[in-house]
Amino acid sequence: MFDKILIANRGEIALRVIRAAREMGIASVAVHSVADADAMHVRMADESVCIGPNPSSESYLSIPAIVAACEITGAQAIHPGYGFLSENATFVQVLEDHGIAFIGPKAEHIRIMGDKITAKDTAKKLGIPVVPGSDGGVPDVEAAKKVAAEIGYPVIIKATAGGGGRGMKVALNADEIEIAFRTARSEAKAAFGNDEVYMEKYLQKPRHIEVQVFGDGRGRAVHLGERDCSLQRRHQKVFEEAPGPCITPEQRDRIGMICANAMGELGYSGAGTIEFLFEDGEFYFIEMNTRLQVEHPVTEGIFGVDLVREQIRVAAGEEMSFRQEDLQIRGHAIEVRINAERLPNFAPCPGKITQYHAPGGLGVRIDSALYDGYKIPPYYDSLIGKLIVHGLDRQEALARLNRALGELIVDGVDTTIPLFRQLLEEPDIQGGDYSIHWLEKWLARTY
Ligand code: ADP
Repeated sequence: MFDKILIANRGEIALRVIRAAREMGIASVAVHSVADADAMHVRMADESVCIGPNPSSESYLSIPAIVAACEITGAQAIHPGYGFLSENATFVQVLEDHGIAFIGPKAEHIRIMGDKITAKDTAKKLGIPVVPGSDGGVPDVEAAKKVAAEIGYPVIIKATAGGGGRGMKVALNADEIEIAFRTARSEAKAAFGNDEVYMEKYLQKPRHIEVQVFGDGRGRAVHLGERDCSLQRRHQKVFEEAPGPCITPEQRDRIGMICANAMGELGYSGAGTIEFLFEDGEFYFIEMNTRLQVEHPVTEGIFGVDLVREQIRVAAGEEMSFRQEDLQIRGHAIEVRINAERLPNFAPCPGKITQYHAPGGLGVRIDSALYDGYKIPPYYDSLIGKLIVHGLDRQEALARLNRALGELIVDGVDTTIPLFRQLLEEPDIQGGDYSIHWLEKWLARTY
């Protein structure tokens, strides 16, 4: 096992990894930008290194700075968290060249899944059901029209290099295809420096269901059920739960085993998430994330496992500590993302936290890097914490969430806390009856 690991991230996820490391008796090294000198992850780690100025491109994304920090401190492995360098195959390659272990999958698997076309191709070959669509990239409007005529309208045009819900355009009919195609292309070029796009049938009222997988890198892999992340704003998740309120045990076993077998065949190592749209009882693969997800705690809640500890174990060459038959679901878990944002536009709201009080009690977990007097810097994303509750069933989890939200105090900046209190009053949320469009429609109606 490693003696010391470096966490190439900030905020709540850096804390999450430091906590797992400490419980395993592993020393932790935090890295930070100038603006983050007083951040909680710096305070909580055993050591810290300033790796550069405030823009992430010069700090949290700087491969040379991070490798140097590793060499100076003698850390043997790096946990990338999510975002930043977590899905950067070049980074993983550089670490390998320097004899530093990466706590995550092989570079090759990151590369395959990072390109949406090769990802979909690979998924298909591994027996995972995919959304009907173009065979690879679509070069021009004429080709787009042909594909649309084959798969039928409405269609969605998506950036091959896409992420974060950007570079996607829907065309409801033949009149809309030309403009949708051109817009998607120029958005893709601007956001990702790559204007390749592909096409899919646009599903009208799907749910977003994702399967958590875990592999040992040597052909053994398991699944840890699904999460329902259908409540989204601009394709960004805000509320996640496990198990999915609309998924039957048979559906879970079927798609779960397909995913686990596929990951075994691939020789996948560590944690991964296979994302699907789910409509009329069918699963349609959209992408795979080759990292720990923001919403992993709901899975930890219902299975009682520590996914970060498991990632570290596997990266150090140890056996996975569970087999498929050990993984039994207990109860229901829900996570809400507490963002420093001002409604109705969800404008980022950085600033000083004048008062912070975390909720507690049975079945309540808060993953947050906040503290009294903390100044949220304006340079990074607006996620300031995650509130996760666990209950014997969905009903209890909802009641607990409402109770915990009532205890949570974050003063000094606007947050999404009031949004969740309002959402919990909605019969559709109480009943678990929502598609990926529900939240946008509700927001349009309510704000
Ligand atoms: P990104 O990597 O940018 O997050 P995804 O491919 O994961 O892109 O898609 C993000 C979201 O966009 C999905 O959760 C869903 O809400 C919507 N979406 C993507 N593909 C389709 C589709 N074929 N039909 C309907 N909605 C889609």
